[in-house]
Amino acid sequence: MKHNEIDFATYFKNYPDEGGFFGKYGGVYVSEELKQAMEEITEAYFTICKSRKFISELRRIRREFQGRPTPISHLERLSGALGNVQFYVKREDLNHTGAHKLNHCMGEALLAKYMGKKKVIAETGAGQHGVALATAAAYFGLECDIYMGTVDIAKQAPNVARMKILGANVVEVTHGLATLKEAVDAAFEAYAKDYKDSIYCIGSVLGPHPFPMMVRDFQSVVGIEAREQFVGMTGELPDAVVACVGGGSNAAGMFAGFLNDPVDIYGVEPLGKGKALGDHAASLQYGEEGIMHGFNSIMLKDENGEPAPVYSIASGLDYPSSGPEHAFLHEIGRVTYDVASDEEAVDAFFKLSRLEGIIPAVESSHAVAYAMKLAKQMGKGSILINLSGRGDKDVDYIIEKYGIR
Ligand SMILES: *Cc1c(COP(=O)(O)O)cnc(C)c1O
Repeated sequence: MKHNEIDFATYFKNYPDEGGFFGKYGGVYVSEELKQAMEEITEAYFTICKSRKFISELRRIRREFQGRPTPISHLERLSGALGNVQFYVKREDLNHTGAHKLNHCMGEALLAKYMGKKKVIAETGAGQHGVALATAAAYFGLECDIYMGTVDIAKQAPNVARMKILGANVVEVTHGLATLKEAVDAAFEAYAKDYKDSIYCIGSVLGPHPFPMMVRDFQSVVGIEAREQFVGMTGELPDAVVACVGGGSNAAGMFAGFLNDPVDIYGVEPLGKGKALGDHAASLQYGEEGIMHGFNSIMLKDENGEPAPVYSIASGLDYPSSGPEHAFLHEIGRVTYDVASDEEAVDAFFKLSRLEGIIPAVESSHAVAYAMKLAKQMGKGSILINLSGRGDKDVDYIIEKYGIR
């Protein structure tokens, strides 16, 4: 199937289908017991997302607690420095806790509350998802268990401290390589034992159905706001929209606002140090079809068919697969997926800081870097970039490794 065979006006009704599939990607590849838990969540979500009370409470939270709508900024100096293309950024860096992640964490925690659950459970790698979920749990008065590998706990001390201050219980995972993959497995195991009283809150558009759909829906506020704001500011649609893709939640939310428009859409994966397996995390670019963590998608595999080790300067992009919807949008050609390297991201990090007074997250810097490359090809027009988060968390590492540029 090609994208011109799909009616994007009704896309969100039809994708995913009842089984949680976007084409052949997605699904629910978990144990029978967890399948039941997923069905319970799906049912609750479909009921609740139509309820006035839930919708108005989520709206109020976004306005009064998160600080939404976040603005769009026109990057006048960067645009001037690169010729005739005008750059605009959607400022998710100004969302409470400094990134887009709270958009779905507040939704997931509100759902947990409506379902009568007492606890939220999740894994975290760099700690960003853990902090966002701990924030949501504190807001709603839910218990919060965050599974994290020993190696990551040592590397991410400030985020571990934040989670603890917010009242979360950080559970150390010591086995295997003691990083993200082991943390996911341990969190799933804990959830399987405790799914009656708790809910697993996935950190991106990943995992078994309904999570890729639910997280996209919660994030779509970004694209819906951005479209309205952009048209309000300029009187037209952007020519191109760009977002970075790790698991793909900030991108899925942004893209949701523009799939039915004559707008070119680009997802940017991390090329890290280069094309060799282990040096990057560009799964859609270099991966193949496979099942992991409960869903079918495109993933990077090692010689044994297991999830391959991945690398990126941006720990938020460091995952060996991407959400099933991205695999689908890639396959049908509606979204173009391409890459930006560590080096290009660091260059963009400094450019945006120097020229605009915005220090971007190193994840978001990948989208900025790609937009700058794209501008050269386009020559004129406008590009809207999703600035998924702020860079405060990255400054120490970048100064240590790259110095001031
Ligand atoms: C976690 C994170 C990402 C990557 O997650 P997606 O699900 O791919 O959006 C991107 N940017 C920032 C700032 C993050 O914290």
